[in-house]
Amino acid sequence: MTKNWEKNIRKVVPYVPGEQPNKANMIKLNTNENPYPPAPGVFGALRAFDTDGLRRYPDPTAHVLVKAIADHYGLEEAQVFVGVGSDDVLAMCFMTFFNSGQPILFPDITYSFYDVWAEEFRIPYQQIPLDEDFQIRPGDYVVENGGIIFPNPNAPTGNLIPLETVEEIVKKNPDVIVIVDEAYIDFGGVSALPLIEKYDNVLVVQTFSKSRSMAGMRIGYAMAQPQLIKYLNDVKYSFNSYTMNPLTITLGAAAVADEVYFQETTKKIIATRERTKAALRELGYVFGDSMSNFLFVTHPALSMEQLFEDLKRKDIYVRHFKRPERIRNYLRISIGTDAEMDILLEALRHYPD
Ligand code: PMP
Repeated sequence: MTKNWEKNIRKVVPYVPGEQPNKANMIKLNTNENPYPPAPGVFGALRAFDTDGLRRYPDPTAHVLVKAIADHYGLEEAQVFVGVGSDDVLAMCFMTFFNSGQPILFPDITYSFYDVWAEEFRIPYQQIPLDEDFQIRPGDYVVENGGIIFPNPNAPTGNLIPLETVEEIVKKNPDVIVIVDEAYIDFGGVSALPLIEKYDNVLVVQTFSKSRSMAGMRIGYAMAQPQLIKYLNDVKYSFNSYTMNPLTITLGAAAVADEVYFQETTKKIIATRERTKAALRELGYVFGDSMSNFLFVTHPALSMEQLFEDLKRKDIYVRHFKRPERIRNYLRISIGTDAEMDILLEALRHYPD
């Protein structure tokens, strides 16, 4: 029998993260993690970490981390907000900025957390179809709306839109907040960060999970004009003041400090991506020109859902999305090391034998 309290429960259909299997010889290309370890300085900072400090509550402003990020990008500290991964930052943004009652806009094929947050926070939304090449059509975002969010490069397609197109969307929507989710921008994209000096309605959100090899540490950040950052902090403090723990703050700051390592590893991933594109093309796979650390591929003669299962049986994990229908015959394949991609390519060369 349904209880009376049932009707008052906030029911949500949750976001489903990629599997996190833990097998010795698996090839894990399903959650866009970085195949290389965090910067060596992170290990040094971990060894020097004073556990006695854990007695105390952390610095609620996460000053050391905020300053490291601000210095790195040449910003004021007041222009940086940090959170527990960009998922946390984006959730805070939804709660803070999308309250007009008008539908917010995002692409129909995009990060599948956006509609989950919109549902959870009761924000009306409209999913704008990508064109037949899975590209954002900027003109579609010039309609009355309650805010806009899109990843650039988009996920799971990997397609990048140029800075001028991002600017056009921001410029044409001066009355709402536009969030550019740049989780994958460091793999060859041009960041919209310069726009935050020019426009008071844009936020750029990035993460340590991909290009800085720190998915397990959970660090994300938003950059914008101080007024927007203040609004975000007000909501954060009204929710949980201590989102960032001292170890995260310390190791995060160490990760930002090592620019050489960052450049080296992102360059390696880009090179592996381009090599993988060439090899997949030879095998008849079809895909857009991804500028991220993953490829979004299909094959005119193969079932991607079947391939997903068959690869999994060989402990090669990639990602398949059953919805939306338009992407059902696609796989998202994260870029691993050269050796990992070789194993995948070898399996594909012999597929389905
Ligand atoms: N945005 C996009 C587009 C993503 O693909 C992801 C990774 N799942 C995130 C945000 C969140 O990443 P994180 O919370 O690890 O920073």
